[in-house]
Amino acid sequence: MADVDRIRIYRHCPRCAAEAMSVRGAQLVVCGACGLHLYYNPCAAVGAFLVDREDRVLFIRRAKDPAAGKLGLPGGFIDNDESAESGLRREVREEIGLEVGGLAFLCSQPNRYSFGGITYPTLDFYFIARVDTFDDARALDEVQGLVVRRENEVDDDELAFPSLRAAWRVFRDRHPG
Ligand SMILES: [Zn+2]
Repeated sequence: MADVDRIRIYRHCPRCAAEAMSVRGAQLVVCGACGLHLYYNPCAAVGAFLVDREDRVLFIRRAKDPAAGKLGLPGGFIDNDESAESGLRREVREEIGLEVGGLAFLCSQPNRYSFGGITYPTLDFYFIARVDTFDDARALDEVQGLVVRRENEVDDDELAFPSLRAAWRVFRDRHPG
């Protein structure tokens, strides 16, 4: 079964239960019976290019779909009431057990993330964080393994998402080495 866009999953209104939901534009679904307006803007997500003293970058090999087995970055979805920076620090801690300090914003890229038969539009925010060493990093939540690469050792086809491939190009252009 093909994935369904998140905005097209409603048949019945979640407030009045009428079968009267219609999609208006890309981000709004409206109930024709009670007038409910449900807005669905992109989900905010974050990823970190962690760089060590030798200018190597740490990737995670994804354990689960979407893109199982491909290279991703430590990161994930932002929780309610959380900043991008604190969400990214939390995800890095949960996924690879590292504490990161300063985060430098790199770029943002739109993405589509499929999970459980539903496609979620996301806006991915990418940051760069310097760490002394990757020695203490370990594969934890939803991580199959850790992969440390120099910039010229990464093949675009290995990267998990189009948004990551785009951010990787920005990273390589800005980051000397
Ligand atoms: Zn309704």
